[in-house]
Amino acid sequence: MVAPFRIDRRRTRAVRVGHVVIGGGAPVVVQSMTDTDTADVAATVRQIRELAEAGSEIVRVTVPTLEAARAVPRIRERLEAEGLRVPLVGDFHFNGDRLLAEVPELAPALDKLRINPGTIGPGERRDRRFEAMIEAALRHDRPVRIGVNWGSLDRTLAARLMDENARRPEPWPAEAVLREALVRSALESAARAEELGLPGDRIVLSAKVSRVPDLVVVYRELARRADYPLHLGLTEAGMGTPGIVASAAALALLLAEGIGDTVRVSLTPAPGAARSEEVRVCREVLQALGLRRFAPSVSACPGCGRTTSDGFRRLAAEIRDWLERRMPEWRARYPGAETLRVAVMGCVVNGPGESRHADVGISLPGKGERPVAPVYVDGEKVATLRGETLAEDFKRIVEAYVARRFGGARAAE
Ligand code: SF4
Repeated sequence: MVAPFRIDRRRTRAVRVGHVVIGGGAPVVVQSMTDTDTADVAATVRQIRELAEAGSEIVRVTVPTLEAARAVPRIRERLEAEGLRVPLVGDFHFNGDRLLAEVPELAPALDKLRINPGTIGPGERRDRRFEAMIEAALRHDRPVRIGVNWGSLDRTLAARLMDENARRPEPWPAEAVLREALVRSALESAARAEELGLPGDRIVLSAKVSRVPDLVVVYRELARRADYPLHLGLTEAGMGTPGIVASAAALALLLAEGIGDTVRVSLTPAPGAARSEEVRVCREVLQALGLRRFAPSVSACPGCGRTTSDGFRRLAAEIRDWLERRMPEWRARYPGAETLRVAVMGCVVNGPGESRHADVGISLPGKGERPVAPVYVDGEKVATLRGETLAEDFKRIVEAYVARRFGGARAAE
């Protein structure tokens, strides 16, 4: 017997961020980050709304200046006035200690602080700033993400580990020392935060790098050495297909090992493209692995020389878009509709078989086949569609299936 695929999630502490829980066995959380000027309240609120509506369960904003720091409480007020309940994270570098001290309303307006130990200076200055930020988190009962990054690795720590390495009888390769520095930076900062009084269940860790193999080994180490929840993401993933594929590969490898409690995909949007693309990628990865269900899935074959026209491609795209449009209403009326599986196939070779495996499937006629499209529901052939109304007829069958299967008492009325 071939055993089913199963992911055993790693055990971690649970960290509450606003009304969302990261770790402790909670579903993997999708998050994202704005790219507006945080000081521009209207633009930032607009983008937070776009990201949240796309499915981002936590949104991070950068807080680089006094103007941005003063804008955050106004952003929070506007979100609350609009009824948008999404936890906000403040991203701090260089001057977070000063901003948190100068704008007392800043920390209470945030649900989590992100601190990068590599961007708050060297030596004593770094220690002072780190302590000030942890104290702000403690004063306002806020969790912290200690987020280290390959591009801003703590130089003092890296130099110390390089020196230690030079004294080894057989020194490690320089890249291995840097990976170790990344892991140690996160873990030592977390230990220091706990020493300062921040409970372990208010700490999330991340250690982002831009290459998939490095990310995998760094997170495996973090997971092995500590039980803080982990924020996963490939940094500087890039644009378009390469960025999406690299991010998906990195997330999937780690999530399949049970590592990762919240995810973010750092895509560079194409000019004019929606920022929310990154949210869609996170959701698709989690759904593909079976870790979360957000929307019905559509299985479609790639098409080949057996397909007669691009009618098959158009139907697959039309059904996918229609399912997406129907979901807001189905979510409210038909709980569980997001688990629906639909198949749209191009010919008789795999069409009927794949359609039978789906909840509802249609197999279009390929070259030389009779111009009819059998429809299968729960593995049984229920109809044969043809002609110009084929797409609408198929949607009606799917709609009726959803109402019957997920409508519960309402469907029986
Ligand atoms: S199902 Fe038919 S049309 Fe689709 S890829 Fe396979 S052989 Fe080609």
